[in-house]
Amino acid sequence: MYEKKNVSKIYSLPKKVVFCKKCVISNQRPRIVFDKNGVCTACNYFEYKAKINWKERENELLKLLEKYRSNDSNYDCVVPSSGGKDSAYVAHELKTKYGMNPLSVTWSPLKYTNIGLKNLNAYSDSGFDIVMGMPRGDTKKKMCREALIEMGDPFQGFIYGQVLFPITIALNYGIRLIFRGENAEAEYGGSRKSWDKKLLTFEEFKNVYFSNYDLNFWLKKGFTKKDLAFFYPPDATGTKGKLCDSYFYGYFRNWSNHSNFYYASKHTGFTPNERRTEGTYTKYSSIDDKLDTFHHWFSLLKFAHGRCTSNAAREVREGYITREEAVALVNKYDNEFPSLYFKEFLEFTSFTEKEFWDIADSWRNKNLWHMQGNDWVKKFPVN
Ligand SMILES: [Zn+2]
Repeated sequence: MYEKKNVSKIYSLPKKVVFCKKCVISNQRPRIVFDKNGVCTACNYFEYKAKINWKERENELLKLLEKYRSNDSNYDCVVPSSGGKDSAYVAHELKTKYGMNPLSVTWSPLKYTNIGLKNLNAYSDSGFDIVMGMPRGDTKKKMCREALIEMGDPFQGFIYGQVLFPITIALNYGIRLIFRGENAEAEYGGSRKSWDKKLLTFEEFKNVYFSNYDLNFWLKKGFTKKDLAFFYPPDATGTKGKLCDSYFYGYFRNWSNHSNFYYASKHTGFTPNERRTEGTYTKYSSIDDKLDTFHHWFSLLKFAHGRCTSNAAREVREGYITREEAVALVNKYDNEFPSLYFKEFLEFTSFTEKEFWDIADSWRNKNLWHMQGNDWVKKFPVN
């Protein structure tokens, strides 16, 4: 048996569940803030973006690029790239519109889908060098297992690598500039303070990510530092915090998941999936990993906030669907269990089916879910 977690307490979630008046996000999303009119920070940020002078921001970008452009044959910047639509847009625009020479750094998914590999190849074919980080499988699997039990998120280990590996590569290649995509904290609902944030300096990065990097947790679980070489913060001795600033491309250019999809389809050979992703209705977002549906499904257990909620909320903000349509989509798809790759997930993590359901039960937030007949249903469905 696994210890039952008090999820609301762990994440300091508000007692009363409230949904945003404009989109379908609730206040159970960690760190999101609602204003006095009942509108979430992600929606307010979207309104704010409409007032930004994007020409000025682009000029700012041009100045920045001049500062970092190399005079020799070295790369000018690192773009963490999965071959997905968003990173493909960033890298391709930097190269073709602004004449930069980006190095793409890919952190491999837990388990590639065919469409994910196909898109990565197409992306490379469109003119990009890629450094791929593929950590050892035994470590990756064990991290996934431990993270699921202890954090209710099988992807925690993956995220460390995804964030840190591009910095390690940038330092090794002597590249001082990293372009990440959107500022997720602003774009999807964090504090207002994050709205005008354009970069994380190396020092900030260390504070935000490295200090939260609880190495001891993994060491206690029997990993060695050697096992974690790819997941471990890069050795920055002697850099004096000056190297490798990480800028958000979404600060300089008006970010839209939808437009990025059209852009990548046109320029880097990006192809959407033939079928929709389980737990949502979209076919083009995060389609390279067979197992990431479980990351989203566990969010659903903890916050009653599934993959469809995230996708629909974004599309309401961008004006592609109405709130009413979003509510219908969430009620239809959000609770769907990712059965397509369930067997592979169990094989990957070496959990038995019973162990899996016991862990799921230990993380299900009972403030947000109750049983009806044989099914778990949301106590507070979006309306
Ligand atoms: Zn909202």
